[in-house]
Amino acid sequence: MDYLDLVKLYASLEKTSKRLEKTVLVGEFLQSHKGGCHIIYLIEGKVFPDWDSRKMGVASRLLLKALSVSTGESIAKIEMRWKKLGDIGEVAEELTKKKTQSTLFSQSLTVDKVQKNLEKLAELEGQGTVDRKVKIIAELLSSASPLEAKYLVRTVIGDMRTGLGEGVMRDAIVWAYLSKEIQVSYDKEKNALVFGTDRKDYAQAVDEVEEAYNLTNDFAKIAELLEKKGRKGLSSIELTPGKPIKVMLYPKAETIEEALKTVGSPAACEYKFDGFRLQIHKNADKVWMFTRRLEEVSKQFPELIALVKKNIKVSSCIIDSEAVGFSVKTGKYLPFQNISQRIKRKYDIEELAKKLPVELNMFDLMYLDGKTLIKESFEKRRKKLLKVVVNKPLIRVIDQLVTDDAKKIDDFYKESLKSGNEGLMIKNIEGMYKPGKRVGYGVKLKPVMETLDVVIVGGEWGEGKRAHWISSFRIAVRNANGDLVEIGRVATGLKEKPEEGFSFAEMTELLKPLIVKETGKEVVVNPSVVIEVAYEEIQKSPTYSSGYALRFPRFLALRADRGVEDSSDLDLVEELYNKQRGRS
Ligand code: ATP
Repeated sequence: MDYLDLVKLYASLEKTSKRLEKTVLVGEFLQSHKGGCHIIYLIEGKVFPDWDSRKMGVASRLLLKALSVSTGESIAKIEMRWKKLGDIGEVAEELTKKKTQSTLFSQSLTVDKVQKNLEKLAELEGQGTVDRKVKIIAELLSSASPLEAKYLVRTVIGDMRTGLGEGVMRDAIVWAYLSKEIQVSYDKEKNALVFGTDRKDYAQAVDEVEEAYNLTNDFAKIAELLEKKGRKGLSSIELTPGKPIKVMLYPKAETIEEALKTVGSPAACEYKFDGFRLQIHKNADKVWMFTRRLEEVSKQFPELIALVKKNIKVSSCIIDSEAVGFSVKTGKYLPFQNISQRIKRKYDIEELAKKLPVELNMFDLMYLDGKTLIKESFEKRRKKLLKVVVNKPLIRVIDQLVTDDAKKIDDFYKESLKSGNEGLMIKNIEGMYKPGKRVGYGVKLKPVMETLDVVIVGGEWGEGKRAHWISSFRIAVRNANGDLVEIGRVATGLKEKPEEGFSFAEMTELLKPLIVKETGKEVVVNPSVVIEVAYEEIQKSPTYSSGYALRFPRFLALRADRGVEDSSDLDLVEELYNKQRGRS
């Protein structure tokens, strides 16, 4: 297929903000291009599925160099235009237009060629990698038309601007492969779906595709299954060690009574540790570790890999756990922010592991010896987990209190808080493991006002002694379409001196390479940094695009374990806002 066909789809997606129209555009595109499910990654603006640890690894400097080589323009000039236009894609389009006016021939690009070359970027390593990457990208750009250059560059930098979130892709798959079966069509004028049969059939199909996605994190794989086996193919999905699944999430309960009402009685209670989620996979001699956002962190935790190899003897398994840091001096648990740097660390890993040790607290088992267990009850899964893991220092199954006595739960809750934990998890003993869902199979109970995990989308350079730092940050949450909507500005909570905690200087270093536009002191950044913020109150506000504003927001921690897709959503903000009003 010509790359231009795909590029035309990107352009149409960018032109409309209507979610349904986007769904149908992608759905129809897929219908007319069956047999090549791989193209789904490119439509999503990716080259690999999220579970794949291969990454293109193209920083903005490298891309600037490639653009300079392909267009003959100086890096400084390209950078200047980028800051002015705020979109490197548009810069690439502009420069390619200029260049093609002076050249006569341009080779046409195929999707296959783009895909293969972008894949190559991830395979390069060792000396000369940067130069070779520049060469590959420049070569593609040299054969690209202006519009192709625009989206090629955006793909490479990971900023498509097509507004295509996971929800739209999921619905587009239903559209492409199941719309005939469930008789659904689109009324463009009314911007509405029209159902030939019961609309519940459609909702059911959407649920099935979503469930399949939570297990595979791979829409191309789902499309392939639908193409080859039809709808029944979706129910045959088995987990595979080495491929992370979305973790099950837990809504919040306000009281023990409410918790018991949600999860049923008796309930299984566990400490809620303040660490980070680690999904552990094992197959024969190989062990992998993934964060909640499916990022592989096996290299960052060599001591945990060794612990698992030594103490878990089954041939294959997938385990859910919370890794918690503790102090070398006192042995006491440390809050997550003290050890968060271990997740992203690329160098001196062994040294850091000694300085900031962590303990593995396991609480669920989703797969064992070739069998997927997510549909089994929690009680059964835990029984198996207890056989798989023999408690040793630093690796253990979380203790549980199973009871229907609210008083006993309350004592357990207080005990947990006293030992420095965040609160309690109260779980349904019959519940299955629902990947990716905040279902009522378990709830969390914690005393403090819920914090929000927000995305930094911009900021402002400081003045005086703060002149070299971005010293206030524009923050956003996700709306139902997956788009980011602003909810305030944070300027407190970060430290001026690095020895006191996470500093303005460190945040500035993180954000600098992400800057896509600068106007005066204001910067716009590519959204990727997630931070946890506390606040006094949530208010309705016309100032920000979310319709809400946080009163006195304060930075608490960098959430290195979260991506934009794991940040808080507008539903949560609305829920917290309503609860707050209910109280007053
Ligand atoms: P929070 O910010 O409150 O930690 P979250 O958004 O990370 O919440 P939730 O599913 O809402 O995720 O809350 C449960 C989180 O608590 C899990 O993601 C996990 O990291 C952590 N946790 C600590 N102890 C446990 C436990 N015993 N069982 C399950 N999760 C636990």
